[in-house]
Amino acid sequence: MSSPDAPTAVPASAALFERAARSIPGGVNSPVRAFSAVGGTPRFIESASGSTLIDADGNHYVDLVSSWGPMILGHAHPAVVDAVQRAATSGLSFGAPTGAEVALAEELIARVAPVDRVRLVNSGTEATMSAVRLARGVTGRSKIVKFSGCYHGHVDALLADAGSGVATLGLPTSPGVTGAQAADTLVLPYNDLDAVREAFARYPGEIAAVITEAAAGNMGAVPPVPGFNIGLREITRADGALLILDEVMTGFRVSRAGWYGLDPVDADLFTFGKVMSGGLPAAAFGGSEHVMNHLAPLGPVYQAGTLSGNPVAVAAGLATLRHATDEVYATLDANSQRLGGLLGDALAAEGVRHHVQYAGNLVSVFFTDGPVTDYAEAKAAETFRFAPFFHSLLAQGVYPPPSAFEAWFVSAALTDTDFDTIAAALPAAARAAAAAQPQ
Ligand SMILES: *Cc1c(COP(=O)(O)O)cnc(C)c1O
Repeated sequence: MSSPDAPTAVPASAALFERAARSIPGGVNSPVRAFSAVGGTPRFIESASGSTLIDADGNHYVDLVSSWGPMILGHAHPAVVDAVQRAATSGLSFGAPTGAEVALAEELIARVAPVDRVRLVNSGTEATMSAVRLARGVTGRSKIVKFSGCYHGHVDALLADAGSGVATLGLPTSPGVTGAQAADTLVLPYNDLDAVREAFARYPGEIAAVITEAAAGNMGAVPPVPGFNIGLREITRADGALLILDEVMTGFRVSRAGWYGLDPVDADLFTFGKVMSGGLPAAAFGGSEHVMNHLAPLGPVYQAGTLSGNPVAVAAGLATLRHATDEVYATLDANSQRLGGLLGDALAAEGVRHHVQYAGNLVSVFFTDGPVTDYAEAKAAETFRFAPFFHSLLAQGVYPPPSAFEAWFVSAALTDTDFDTIAAALPAAARAAAAAQPQ
């Protein structure tokens, strides 16, 4: 139960994985899905409803990934499905503006005070790429500061020392990113304001923007230490650089207003994705009118998209946000605490060195004495314990993220029965983690 499963345990997924590898590199369209860090057979999902994933072999799993964030209401929420069906019936794409796009923009603006203009794009990667271009266009400067372990999508200039799949696969950066593309990126340790002050002292007037995850969630959940984000605000403002808060993961998940609702820092630009997409390809970047008006057609900074503001994606996002009520956010928070409590209790009972850490309602388990405040500490954890822990849970019908460097994402659809399943599965998983040996 505790080691990577034999393909015979999930024959339909195993057959699909083998077939996929003949047409798709590694059999997947996004690397973390391949289970590279944990081994075994990725589950090919046939359907999902509420908190439950059902794989090609008919196995049911309590979903603790939520499509890496978007599905806060659970899968196939009736109101979201209905909105999508109605939108689809009215036409899939027009290449012309729609009223629904305006409504989604207004919903985002209403939730995050410093944002008074937004532009819709198709992925979080596009949102951060566009925000960086805009920051460079507005300031006329080249350099960008990012932090180790933060992931901002697979933008060339932002892949250096990135979290998420880059961390899972242990890559420093990526071949294919040229020296020129990376040369203007300064990578600093997360949560280290002194390092930021030094960078600005060294390159005064040259840094276009600091980009940071509003709370880091791609090296596991690592919140900013108190004063970090506001410190970035003060340092950037003093130098005339912009601050970009990447809320693709945290936005509209950790509160109605995302991380901004917990730690209100007036960034110049915010990026959004995941939850606001409702599970279809949609994302956004936004900021003050002054900064955003540099975009074409008003200004000279070019940015565009054939499918941007796609009516079906917009319908999913809008329906999701409209149903993401205060009650939903309270449930997400409660579910996250309940999950974290169960994880901690089970690991403590087996004497496994661990630290359950939160960034809002994002949860992570680090196999180390916490807290973890940066990427070096996240990487220093006993990550060899993760794969057996993961596989034991998976074999017992619980689907955690398949990497020690990813946060766990609860939905509001988790039921008491789901928590019973998780609680019943954890003791064996904790024993598997306790028994794990370094490779
Ligand atoms: C997921 C993520 C992205 C990239 O979004 P995609 O839609 O996968 O391109 C960017 N930034 C953060 C913080 C993310 O978590």
